[in-house]
Amino acid sequence: MGLLTEGIPLPWSDAKVHTDHIHEHGITQFLNIWNRMKDRHGDKFLWGDELEYMILSYDDEERRANVSLRQTEVLEALPKAFEDVRMRNPAEAPLLPVFHSEFGRYMVEGVPGAPYGGTISDLLSVEHNMSYRRAVASRVLKPTETLFTLTVFPRLGAPGIFTEPLYEPAKTPDGYSYFLPQETIAPHVRYQAMTNAVRERRSGKPVINVPIFVDANTPRPFVDPTIPQSARKSLESVIKEDHIFLDASGFGAGCCCLQVTFQASDVPHARRVYDALVPIAPIMLALTAASPIWKGYLSNVDCRWDVIAASSDERTEEERGLKPLSGKQQIIPKTRWSSVYSYISDSSENKREYNDTPMPYNEQVYDRLSSSGVDHLLAMHIARLYIRDPLIVLNNKIDQDDESSAEHFESIQSTNWQTIRFKLPPPGSPIGWRVEFRSMEVQLTDFENAAFSVFIILLARAITAFNTNFYIPISKVDENMSRAQRRSAVTGEKFWFRKDVFPTNTPPPSQAHTPMSMRSPNMEERVLGSGSAPGSAESSPKAPDLGLSEGEYEEMSVNEIINGKGDSFPGLLGLIYAYLNTLNLEKSEMESLKKYLDLVKGRANGSLMTMSTWMRNFIHSHPAYAHDSVVSEEINYDLIKTLDQIEKGTRRADGLLPAGYFATRAARSL
Ligand code: ADP
Ligand code: MG
Ligand code: MG
Ligand code: MG
Ligand code: MG
Ligand code: MG
Repeated sequence: MGLLTEGIPLPWSDAKVHTDHIHEHGITQFLNIWNRMKDRHGDKFLWGDELEYMILSYDDEERRANVSLRQTEVLEALPKAFEDVRMRNPAEAPLLPVFHSEFGRYMVEGVPGAPYGGTISDLLSVEHNMSYRRAVASRVLKPTETLFTLTVFPRLGAPGIFTEPLYEPAKTPDGYSYFLPQETIAPHVRYQAMTNAVRERRSGKPVINVPIFVDANTPRPFVDPTIPQSARKSLESVIKEDHIFLDASGFGAGCCCLQVTFQASDVPHARRVYDALVPIAPIMLALTAASPIWKGYLSNVDCRWDVIAASSDERTEEERGLKPLSGKQQIIPKTRWSSVYSYISDSSENKREYNDTPMPYNEQVYDRLSSSGVDHLLAMHIARLYIRDPLIVLNNKIDQDDESSAEHFESIQSTNWQTIRFKLPPPGSPIGWRVEFRSMEVQLTDFENAAFSVFIILLARAITAFNTNFYIPISKVDENMSRAQRRSAVTGEKFWFRKDVFPTNTPPPSQAHTPMSMRSPNMEERVLGSGSAPGSAESSPKAPDLGLSEGEYEEMSVNEIINGKGDSFPGLLGLIYAYLNTLNLEKSEMESLKKYLDLVKGRANGSLMTMSTWMRNFIHSHPAYAHDSVVSEEINYDLIKTLDQIEKGTRRADGLLPAGYFATRAARSL
């Protein structure tokens, strides 16, 4: 959530005492919302993006780029900057964004001032909204600083200097990190409390081993030379050869991402689109890959996901299976940062066999939800979230009014960081049931971030309009998540995907690529619509079908998944165009949307590179690169400067962005 509630977080030893209390009241709060809102219908299609930014600063004399630890000052200065804009041009006031803090002291998060509506013109306004956001926030920066949408800072935690001002990791308690000064954590006590809770609950620092990219001159075996000599003995059991070793929450929580949230018309609609997006999450992770460099080394992964998963892994040794279980303890296969645990829709297409991975649940919570009338799948979803302890317990928030507060519920919900989130209507607000898409890495430019947001929103609408069926077993989604992060996954890997995505009771369009024949409920409206497809299966009872699902899915390339395969599978873009063709768009609207969809098309078919691939190429062709996997301060400086120029449109990056980008970008400014 945006605003951090004031209060003093209890130290973990005191906080954990309140687990049962928070679980119990969290579920009461859930049930209060559920009973009030479960039958709510007809909410409008609203949506919004979240962009996470890094403030970076240059030391041009030393040719060094650093993370600038100025979150507090920047957030404090923003209201005045907003006021200036409002005074000078009142017409722009509705565009004014909302910024809030994030984990890294060099990070901020920005969202649109109000959610977008469901029209094509709203969809086409996103890029402008994003660049406006960037421009407004940039007004409060120093001349040496730039706001970046960069997934990971390449030299975070590397030897030498990487923060402005300088803090030395050696002066930070080893208990936090050997590599990151504590001052890289945002000052709000909540972040520190979360870091401590993770460490104390798991009895030690997070262990994050990122495979190194082995180049011609990389020493073999590679033993991370940045680990202090004095620490090697004690770390012996956790350091892995040929891996970059990271040891703190900040390596994961200090990454930036792009998220998209939309409002569903009602609960069944939210649950259906939630499920449909579960298998899409790994595909979008591969397509948005933007994090090939960790702690100053080229790695063999392209994405942040597993780094964050490990950096927020607070499971005890028993839960991780390292010690025998006792009492109510159970093995927990996934960390809190993971792909989803199970599908939740009660449509007949959601066969029981798809939820095929072992994931424990909180039996007490399940029984209580069940006996209060919550159906099996939703009760299980919540009961699985509730195997976790609250990480942050605020001294003044322990006793709450369960009618008007959702804080205890959110204390568990919002610290289960999964690829998709089913968001509840907040008590006392007009906001309805929402679904959040969370797997994407943030892209360098607003054009790209807008393109991926537009893609997800149109896909969500196409899913609704055609009642598509994307189900594959969760185990296959998990397999896809790990494939998605491998180097060059977009072009080099195959992914499990469903062969026939049309519902069984609807004949598939005979020619998937001439999709004018497909009808949607929004025919003639030129809006994205609000409701569900007529005749959707969402309210039909669960079929007792426990047959095997093999044969329903196969391995496809990302190109096939996005751009289509043969006559049978139109690809996600095929579905989107089919949907758009039902809206009777103006030619100019279609052309504008096509620019965004073409970016996704190009990334999928390999004619455009991912950010990860582009960065790797930059490193490999840098004259100072010694082919030893090391991204030095000098190379990093040149990389960041170059990215800065590309974002501003003053330098081309053919192969990363379409040529048209550079023709228009330079003209856009506040
Ligand atoms: P969180 O961090 O919990 O995901 P944020 O407040 O940072 O939440 O971002 C929520 C996003 O949802 C923003 O883009 C916001 O514009 C958008 N949003 C707000 N209200 C609605 C709504 N009723 N329906 C859909 N999206 C909404
Ligand atoms: Mg947010
Ligand atoms: Mg958040
Ligand atoms: Mg965030
Ligand atoms: Mg130290
Ligand atoms: Mg979010």
